[in-house]
Amino acid sequence: MKPRGKEGAGQTEENGKGSDFDQSKDNRKGSGSDGTEEEENSAGVNQAENTREESEETKKDYIKWVEFHVTCEAMKKAYQYDLDTYGKDQHLNWVELLAILGAKYGGDFSRYKEEDLDDVAEVLMKGEKTLKELTAGMEYYPYYREAYGAVLNGMVGAYEAAGRKVYGLKAFHPIAKGFPYRDYDDFGVSRTYGYRRNHLGHDMMGQVGTPIIAVESGYVEALGWNQYGGWRIGIRSFDGKRYYYYAHLRQNYPYQEKLKEGDTVTAGDVIGYMGHTGYSTTENVNNIDTVHLHFGLQLIFDESQKEGNNEIWVDCYNLTRFLYKNRSEVHKVEGTKEWKRTFQMKEKQKNTSEKHKKH
Ligand SMILES: [Zn+2]
Repeated sequence: MKPRGKEGAGQTEENGKGSDFDQSKDNRKGSGSDGTEEEENSAGVNQAENTREESEETKKDYIKWVEFHVTCEAMKKAYQYDLDTYGKDQHLNWVELLAILGAKYGGDFSRYKEEDLDDVAEVLMKGEKTLKELTAGMEYYPYYREAYGAVLNGMVGAYEAAGRKVYGLKAFHPIAKGFPYRDYDDFGVSRTYGYRRNHLGHDMMGQVGTPIIAVESGYVEALGWNQYGGWRIGIRSFDGKRYYYYAHLRQNYPYQEKLKEGDTVTAGDVIGYMGHTGYSTTENVNNIDTVHLHFGLQLIFDESQKEGNNEIWVDCYNLTRFLYKNRSEVHKVEGTKEWKRTFQMKEKQKNTSEKHKKH
C-alpha cells in the first residue's frame, strides 16, 4: 500500500551533506533489505570482537553500522516481559531479550517467532541460566546489545507521573494523541531533491498545525532552517547516543514558543507543529507538496559520526508503531497557536558521563 505521489514529498533532510553520502552507505549495507544479513554479520563480527578485545582501553573502538529491523510485535512482547518482571528476582530487560533474538537471527526479524522469545524469557525467569551463561556462546550478542541499546535504552525506565513513581514506557509517539496521520515503511526509498540519495527517516502525513511531540527527553541541539528539512528541530538524548530529527515544520510558526537551542525538553512535550517547509535555500518556504512530519533517528557512538559520511540513521517505522500506545494528550492554549501537553511527567536526568561507559 504505497501511496503514489509520495516520492519527492518527504525527504532526507539532513544537515547539508555531500552527494556521495547515501551512496557510501548503500555500498556498505548492500542495496536491498533482503540479503543484507551477511554484510551485517560481518560488521557485527568485527564490532563484537573489537568490543571484547579492547573494551577497557576504549581507543577508537565503536560501532560503525546498525540496522534496526526489530518488529513492533517483538518489541511489544519483550517490553511486556520487562514490565511484568519488574521488581521480581529475575527482572528481564527488554533490550537484552531483543539482542538475544538479534544475535540468533543475524538481525533479520522476518525470522521472528514468538516462541523464540518465550523460550529465552522462560530460561531466564526460571533461573535455569543467567544472562551471561545464556549468551556466552553467542558471538554477536555484545554487538546487538550495544546496537539495540543505542536505539532503545532511553525508552523504558522509572519516571514520575501525577506525583507517583512509575516504571514503564516513558518515550512517546511523535504525533499528539487524537491527531490523525498515515504512514508506511518508507525508510531507504530513493529521493531526488538536491542529489540522489535514500530516505533516512520516516514520514507521517497529517494536517498543518498537528502538534509534534518529543519522543524522548533531551537537549535541543539544532533548531532553525535547513534547506532539506525546512524548519526543523534536532534533539539529542541525555546519554548522547540518539539524535531525533523532526522536519518540515509549519511555515511562520514552526516551534513551541520560546524553544531554543540548548533547552531541555521532556518526553511528551509539544515541541513544534507539522507543516511542509523545506527544499529551498530560502527560509520559511513551503516547497514540499505533501504536509508531513519527517521523523529521523540517528545513532551516535562516537562524535565523528554526527555529521558526514559515517552517519547511522535507522528505520523507525516499527518503533513509531510500538510507541503508538503512548501518545501525548494535548490541549489548545486559547487565543494562541500553541498546544500544551495535558499530563506532565518527570524523569531523572541521566549523568552525561554515562555515555563513555562501556557495557
Ligand atoms: Zn522524510
